[in-house]
Amino acid sequence: MDSLIRRGLEDIKPYEPGRPISLVEKELGITKAIKLASNESPYGPFPEVIEAMKAKLSNLNRYPDGGSTFLREKIAEKLDVPLKNIMVGHGSNELLRLIANVLLNPEDEAVAASPSFIVYPTVVKLMNAKLIEVPLKAHRHDLQAMSDAITKRTKIVFICNPNNPTGTIVTKGEVDSFMESIPDKVVVVFDEAYYELVRDESYPSGLDYINGKNPVVVLRTFSKVHGLAGCRVGYGIAPDFIVEAVNKVREPFNVNSVGQAAAIRSLDCEDKVEERSRLNYEGLRYLYSEFERLGLKYIPSHANFVLVDIGVDDRLASKELMKRGVIVRSGDIFGYPNYLRVTVGTPDENARFIAELEGVRKTLLEGALR
Ligand SMILES: *Cc1c(COP(=O)(O)O)cnc(C)c1O
Repeated sequence: MDSLIRRGLEDIKPYEPGRPISLVEKELGITKAIKLASNESPYGPFPEVIEAMKAKLSNLNRYPDGGSTFLREKIAEKLDVPLKNIMVGHGSNELLRLIANVLLNPEDEAVAASPSFIVYPTVVKLMNAKLIEVPLKAHRHDLQAMSDAITKRTKIVFICNPNNPTGTIVTKGEVDSFMESIPDKVVVVFDEAYYELVRDESYPSGLDYINGKNPVVVLRTFSKVHGLAGCRVGYGIAPDFIVEAVNKVREPFNVNSVGQAAAIRSLDCEDKVEERSRLNYEGLRYLYSEFERLGLKYIPSHANFVLVDIGVDDRLASKELMKRGVIVRSGDIFGYPNYLRVTVGTPDENARFIAELEGVRKTLLEGALR
């Protein structure tokens, strides 16, 4: 019966998300597990956002506004971008897929860094197009090599800034040169899921390039610093021709009404977003200092996660950590064996991760000596 499935899907691996806390607790018979695996905010939606969502519940008999008008207006106003250039999606993941849906023919190519966000290969292969993966250089996008990888067939370049899983950024100067070097018809997609968390002066916004010679798409999300991952709302700024094409193929009601209300309210919480960004930065500093105390190498990050070289088998270590109620991601799935990717949690969660990591490393190192 496999032959009934459309050709090309055999190359696609299902997305393996971080395991939810409730499932891990049930399977292992434990309580008080913490999840530092999916780069979520450790804090919930802002209190006023929760109120806005509650206010929508009694109206759930109605379909949402299929055009997400008020949310798009709010985004347009906030970013000072025309309304017609705003699209929203069921997370920015949906927008990534829609962009591939409307741009890629089977003979087309896309360029992305590797390792980078695992959704890019999936959406490109879904269209039977070809993804050219350009290795990171010193854990960062090698924009020169990515520019060199562009051919006549290249339609899209994905720039994940900061990059998931490394947390590294490309600078304004680097992106400026890159944009100048590429052919005019290439669509550049800036995936800025962690935009609000970056505190580095040299970090560019993809919005700086929307009026340049190339079509540019900027993707952002409510899933990270806004603490709304469960609501599934992301947004994109894109040229008219892309937004119009996306509107043809997206689900008519792709963002639910609770999510729309939450996102609208959360956009007003700028000070609170800034506070979370600061807390995240402090969390990163704490993790770095503990890694240094333990003699572990790590890749300095601009996002809310960090790759750390734990010097022992990362699969075993993440399994052991999970038994102790700490859910993290093993680095091997991202091409970083012996690393863990850990999301910055609350101060208590970070301390617990470090304590359990020390225990697990001790066990595994002793086991290796035996
Ligand atoms: C988390 C993340 C997203 C956002 O996904 P949503 O679908 O908006 O939850 C997009 N891109 C990258 C690189 C991410 O890490």
